[in-house]
Amino acid sequence: MKTPPKTAPVPPTAPTDNQVIKKVDWGDFRDHLATADKDGRRMWLYPKKPRGQLYNLRTWVNFVLLAIMFAGPFVRINGSPLLMMNIVDRRFVILGQTFWPQDLPIFATAMLIFLTGIVIFTAAFGRLWCGWTCPQTVLMEGVFRKLEYWIEGDSHQQRALSKAPWTAGKILKRGGKHALFLALSFLIGNTLLSYIIGSDALLKIITDNPADHVKGLTFMVLFTLVFYGIFARFREQACTFICPYGRFQSTLLDENSIVVAYDYKRGEKRGIFRRKEGAQARKTSGLGDCVDCKQCVNVCPTGIDIRDGTQMECVNCTACIDACNNVMDKISRPRGLIRYASLNGIERGEPIRLTPRLLGYVGVLLALIGLFLFLLFTRTEIQTTLLRAPGALFQQMPNGKIANLYTVKLVNKTHHDIPVTLRLEDSPGEIRVMSQRDIVVPAERLFETSLLIELDASQLGDNNRPLRIGVYSGDVRIETLKTVFVGPRPKANPQP
Ligand code: SF4
Ligand code: SF4
Repeated sequence: MKTPPKTAPVPPTAPTDNQVIKKVDWGDFRDHLATADKDGRRMWLYPKKPRGQLYNLRTWVNFVLLAIMFAGPFVRINGSPLLMMNIVDRRFVILGQTFWPQDLPIFATAMLIFLTGIVIFTAAFGRLWCGWTCPQTVLMEGVFRKLEYWIEGDSHQQRALSKAPWTAGKILKRGGKHALFLALSFLIGNTLLSYIIGSDALLKIITDNPADHVKGLTFMVLFTLVFYGIFARFREQACTFICPYGRFQSTLLDENSIVVAYDYKRGEKRGIFRRKEGAQARKTSGLGDCVDCKQCVNVCPTGIDIRDGTQMECVNCTACIDACNNVMDKISRPRGLIRYASLNGIERGEPIRLTPRLLGYVGVLLALIGLFLFLLFTRTEIQTTLLRAPGALFQQMPNGKIANLYTVKLVNKTHHDIPVTLRLEDSPGEIRVMSQRDIVVPAERLFETSLLIELDASQLGDNNRPLRIGVYSGDVRIETLKTVFVGPRPKANPQP
């Protein structure tokens, strides 16, 4: 969303709506970070505890999301976890469905859908994701910040505690807080680890001999320290400095995007509120509804002033909406001076509308969803890879036949074992499995073995013969593999 210019000419005559905007002193907020002083040192934020309807609603949403997040690794669908991203074994489980590296097109399409969804959502509703569902915000504002308020009190008490000398009380409060933060970080770190390696593997690490799980324990400690660092110290800087999403928003938002916005037409010119002064007198003196109480700034967890316009640091947490609504209630003015609105909504009173850009995004998303469903429904239960074994091209067998050695890899994507047979489709010959008579691919596992295919030398017209091999489960053909059978070069006819 555009922000009115920093310096603007003062209107010569009675102000129109736009001229009122120009009169606003937009300050130098874009020239420095809200969380750094003039020497670039970080200023620690003590946001005031928000109170209001949106804060209460967010608390409930946080409960639900936290329950899903912590329960996720332990929920089973047909014996498989709800979600698991096992990068080490290259095995991914989403909603109980196991995906392998062979499913890369499906996975890539799902990621594109996710990204396109975020783009559409951002273009239409701004950073709704950040304020309501991002794990960083949910954990920071919904858990760690709440604990901080509980232990150290509201903003002014935290400031006072910070300045106070190190007494036993302060040590107890600070020590208790950080011990709790560390314990929570340990819990979050372990949850993340179980999303990666699975809850069973995590339980093994916890219950087994530690010497057998040095790698796992190292990651446990590492994750704990990273989360502790983020939530105890780094905080809003993760959104401002690390997360790229906030930086994308300037390319994704337009005048029709719904964001947390200050209604400058209604609010300006801002000025302190005098109870004796009536609403009419305030209007006559050119003052708007903003009483410049800075409550919206005081509650902001990223330290910005939303009255300066949409900013990269704003995570759309809605704390300023609640704070301002409470002020409006007190001065008997309508709520919504800060609200979810688009720039066009504020400037021209336009309703939310579907722009051609948004329709284009929706078209791309629908196409991707179509592709994803096609890939998902045409996905085979078993995926087979057949490769010629390195080394000798062919072998002359004692029975006079020619044999080629292959390596076959079968991935079972289902939750049950599948017996598999391999048959030559259009060539009389024999397939011999080297390791065992019957191939049974275990559920959700990779099975690898060697195959010897024998053909009569008479069937080799040339030295190479294309082969088609059917992969069957019972009488049902799952897929057909293609390869080449190599034989000896035919002897050249002697010269007459
Ligand atoms: S809380 Fe509302 S009234 Fe107070 S400064 Fe912010 S916008 Fe103005
Ligand atoms: S400006 Fe408002 S919505 Fe944005 S981060 Fe600050 S308090 Fe949250």
